[in-house]
Amino acid sequence: MRIALVSEHASPLAAIGGVDAGGQNVHVAELAAGLVRLGHSVAVYTRRDDAELAERVETAAGYEVVHVPAGPAAPVPKDDLWPHMAAFADHLTEMLKFQQPDLVHAHFWMSAWASARAARRLNLPLHVTFHALGSVKRRYQGPADTSPLNRIRVEVAVATAADRIVATATDEVRELALLGIPSSKVSVVPCGVDLDHFTPDPTTHGSSAVPERSCRYRLLSVGRLVPRKGYDIVIEALTRLPETELLIAGGGDATPEPEHDRLAAVAERLGVADRVRLIGQIARTDMPALLRSADLVVCSPWYEPFGIVPLEAMACGVPVVASAVGGMLDTVVDAVTGALVPPRDPVALAEAVGQMLESPSRRAELARAGLERVRSRYSWDRVAADTAAVYQQTVGRQSAGQALSAPLG
Ligand code: UDP
Repeated sequence: MRIALVSEHASPLAAIGGVDAGGQNVHVAELAAGLVRLGHSVAVYTRRDDAELAERVETAAGYEVVHVPAGPAAPVPKDDLWPHMAAFADHLTEMLKFQQPDLVHAHFWMSAWASARAARRLNLPLHVTFHALGSVKRRYQGPADTSPLNRIRVEVAVATAADRIVATATDEVRELALLGIPSSKVSVVPCGVDLDHFTPDPTTHGSSAVPERSCRYRLLSVGRLVPRKGYDIVIEALTRLPETELLIAGGGDATPEPEHDRLAAVAERLGVADRVRLIGQIARTDMPALLRSADLVVCSPWYEPFGIVPLEAMACGVPVVASAVGGMLDTVVDAVTGALVPPRDPVALAEAVGQMLESPSRRAELARAGLERVRSRYSWDRVAADTAAVYQQTVGRQSAGQALSAPLG
């Protein structure tokens, strides 16, 4: 198949860990590479956010990245990109005429809207992966949600217009149903993890970025430095966990990061600043060694559409303590590969972490089960094959995309 992946803000070529560069970038890059390994031809369309970027970049993995000129050729926060999506859709249409793909798979709601326009014009089947839903974001973030106001309306419209929705977690099927999207239209294919890169083998993938341990136990949290990742919950749990340090990896790109200062202030106020280190953005090459340096990886978001970090931790042989939300309800098996705790509950988190830290044999048992789970279910080869199988359901068919009415822009 000839496949077009569209990911307007999340380029597979971006450095990961900044405010707007996280799991979606990794997902799109790995899915594209996995589809190429299966023999498909793949182009990824993403917004040109740097004047130095060539229009087309051929990656070592064998897929092409096509930079779509919409809005300034400079970084723009993703929540400010909506006004540029009509231009993105117009350029995308022309670029797709050149590629002549068999289908379009859009990632995130704005790409989905632009792709729906382009796919309708060209009569191509449209698949959509939302990665995150505006309705969920609004529920948890309330007035702090900076998404454009019409996000939820657009999501419902593109979900209705799409030929298939590829959800990353079972929880998303339930959320889509609340928006009136029938489950029969949704296939669940999770994100994956690079099992050659993330391994328990201490001789692989460097250790230069691993800070020396300063306490008996080490907890690690990894992700974009945004409030919903709930790092402050782990900091609060630390007050109940003696002899334990917390490393937080992420952030450090060009955009201002109020969350960094807020977290440092929380640690100071709670008297644990000497045991909390915000170590900034960690390169992907250094991430496995960093993960392996921890006794436990803690993922404590308020909500999490998928959460690749738990898979990366499990692949490195490190047990995970995670909030019982979103994708982690599928990936982390409570008491088997780690622990699930209620979100925003530092006492429950401290209890679960404390029990595991006390027992190295229990941690080893959980680590073994986690490794087995990711190896059997979450390789990118399997994810790519399952995604391609979903594509096959629509290829060659007339697109259902005509249902998207024009005035959404
Ligand atoms: N990541 C990274 N360096 C950092 C912080 C994060 O490489 O400093 C990576 C992390 O290893 C994972 C991704 O960014 O692959 C985060 O994905 P996740 O699904 O956990 O969160 P999202 O960013 O999608 O909310």
